[in-house]
Parts: sequence; structure tokens; C-alpha cells
Amino acid sequence: MRSISILGATGSVGDSTFRLLRKHRADWRVEALTAQCSATKLAELAKEFDARIAIVGDEACLPELREELAGSGIEAAGGRAALIEAAARPVDITMAAIVGCAGLAPVMAAIEQGGTIALANKEALVSAGEVMTEAVARHGATLLPVDSEHNAIFQCLNGNDLAEVRMITLTASGGPLRLLSTDELQRVTPDQAVAHPNWDMGAKISVDSATMFNKGLELIEAHHLFPVGLDRIRILVHPQSVIHSMVEYRDHSTLAQLGPSEMMVPIASCLAWPKRMETPCEPLDLAKIGELTFFQPDEDRFPATRLARAACEEGGATPAILNAANEMAVAAFLAGQIPFTRIAAVVEDVLGQSNHTPRPATLDDVLAIDAAARSQARAILETA
Ligand code: NAD
Ligand code: MG
Repeated sequence: MRSISILGATGSVGDSTFRLLRKHRADWRVEALTAQCSATKLAELAKEFDARIAIVGDEACLPELREELAGSGIEAAGGRAALIEAAARPVDITMAAIVGCAGLAPVMAAIEQGGTIALANKEALVSAGEVMTEAVARHGATLLPVDSEHNAIFQCLNGNDLAEVRMITLTASGGPLRLLSTDELQRVTPDQAVAHPNWDMGAKISVDSATMFNKGLELIEAHHLFPVGLDRIRILVHPQSVIHSMVEYRDHSTLAQLGPSEMMVPIASCLAWPKRMETPCEPLDLAKIGELTFFQPDEDRFPATRLARAACEEGGATPAILNAANEMAVAAFLAGQIPFTRIAAVVEDVLGQSNHTPRPATLDDVLAIDAAARSQARAILETA
């Protein structure tokens, strides 16, 4: 039996993780489950999987969680400090599935235990960069990529020397708005933006897929997970989301990982690594899909990947600023405060007005950069 904690248990990645755990019930013991609030759902999951502890990040939701868990013998806790403490409980594997930079401190707490972290929370790695990868090395932790593209690359690399790699190709579905003109993009509503054609995901990452910031963040994520040099990571639009990414070796042999557009597949690859486990997914039916197509990304209509590449080249504080500005702009778009096309513009403005030095050396440095970029974004959004 292996132990697992799930940070961000009530979200979309959490849902997919529980579907796998249900199928392999006897193999897993659940330690900690966390959510920001959603006390009822969190308590139900904690009872179903007999978790040791359930934690809500928002302390205001703790009374409800306590009530829901009364008599169950499951511990309830609330607040940021409790959440970070829970993430530091030693387990065989931690599923890091909180959305946004809010997940960074909990992920770092898990890394400090030297365990295995299945990382879905890309914003944490984008913001912290080397602060996280150096902590992973220092504490002997293992980072397994849950993001389907990075999981695909991880599988295609199969432990090979990165010096043998000529090119990593990150595939992108292009999102639900891929074919719209700039004019049409101005009028996109939150409902249209979150309606992804291939993947069922949380609201924030769905908007990121529509703007292509998701691919921009993934470019930075890939740069840290597979340090081959930014010039050897490219983005290719592939609307069917069948090939999840590719690795070309220096002999021009290219390996691709294919699979259904189902997060259970990359999650299973992390949970079972280095072995395999069964998933309740429909197998890929290539004859039914018929055709796989590929396009260059259009960075005029979707400037996010260009902004992310520049931020990654600059390094230091810049990716954290980009990420914070994007989180703020996405929230403003979802709240109906700004049009879709303003998201990238706000990010560009925040990048232009922020202090990009000094280079972050600690978790606190990253959190300070994140906080400063958020207030910068707030000021820009208020005058918009
Ligand atoms: P989601 O919005 O569905 O769920 C987010 C979870 O984080 C919830 O449990 C929520 O309660 C918790 N949370 C939110 N804000 C928090 C805060 N301030 N403090 C503590 N907890 C908080 O998101 P999701 O779609 O499951 O995505 C989770 C992460 O995985 C994101 O970083 C996303 O980019 C990444 N990811 C998701 C998918 C997917 O298919 N959904 C695929 C690849 C990567
Ligand atoms: Mg992805």
C-alpha cells in the first residue's frame, strides 16, 4: 500500500486522481486532502477515502468542514499555515493540483520532505523556476510531470541523456478560439473561452488554453523540467490533442506519446511510475480519429507564447511577474471586467511596469515578486 496526499483535491485534476484511486482502492492510503473551500465536497472525499486529515485554505470554511466531518474520526484544519503543514506530512507521493501560485508554498513544503511530487500546478514551477528545481535537487525529491505535454516528453525521454535531444515539440490544441479573427476575439465571453473542445478542466486553465498562455506557461515549465535550451523547445498546434508532445533525437528519430485527451492517463503514469497501472479510459481509436493535423502557432492573434518565451529568456523574476499578471487578468476576464483580448495586454503592461530585479533566491523572494506584480496588475486593471 502506498500513501498519497492530494493538494487541490476538489478540482478537475483532483477528480481525475480520485477516479484512478477508486479503481485501485486497495493499493492506496490517503493522508491529507486540501481545498480552498468546498467544505462539503472535501468532507465527502475525505470520508470516502478515509483520509487522515482534510484542510481548507480559507479559514472561514473550517466550521462547515468540522461539522461535515463530525464523528468521522478525520481531523479537520483550516488556514494557509495548516495547509502548508499538511503538505509537509511525509507520504509516498503528493499530487500537487492547486491552481495558481497559491500552490507554490505547499509544493515547496512537500519538496522539503524529499518525497515524490506529481506536479500539475505549473504556475508554481513557472514562478519559482530554479528556486524550485534547486530545492528538488537539494532535498533529493522527485518531480514527476502531470501536465500531459510534459508527461509525454518525460515518457519519450525515458531517462535518456538530454544531450542526445535535438528538439522538444510541445503540442497545443490551440484552444476553443483558434479560428477566430482578432475582431471576433474582442467579443469572446467567459463561457465561450472555457468551452474547451478536447479537455474538461478548471476555469483558469481553460481560459489559459484559449489565450495560449497555457502553452506559454508550459514552455517555461518544459524549460525547467527538461533543460535543453529554449531554442530547442518549440510549439506546434495540433487540434486533435492525440499526440501529447514529441522528442526528436540528434539522429532525427522522433518519439511521440499518444493517448486519449484524458488527464487520468498522465496522472496514472505518475502514480504508477516507473511501472504502469490500468485506467478507466476509452482506448485511443486512431481509425475513428482518421486525421492528425499540425499548424504553426499564430503569435499575432495569440501573443501569449511570444511573451512567455521572452520572459523565460530573461529569467529571474520575469516569469513570476508574467504568471501573476496573467492570474489577475484571467480573474478579471472571468468576472466580466475586461475583454478577452485585454488579458495579454494587461500582462504586457505589468511586465513593462514591474521591477525585474533582483533574481529570486528563496521562496519568500518569489512570493514577494508575485505579490508586487499582483498589486501592479490591480492598479492597471482599476484604471482600465
Ligand atoms: P481547479 O480550479 O479545477 O481546482 C483547483 C483546486 O485548487 C481546487 O481544489 C481548489 O479548492 C484549490 N485552490 C484554489 N485556490 C486555492 C488557494 N488559493 N489555496 C489553496 N487551494 C486552492 O483547477 P484544475 O483544472 O484541477 O487545475 C489544477 C492545476 O493543474 C492548475 O495548475 C492547472 O494548470 C494544472 N493542470 C490542470 C489540467 C486539467 O486538465 N484540469 C491539466 C494540466 C495541468
Ligand atoms: Mg498541458
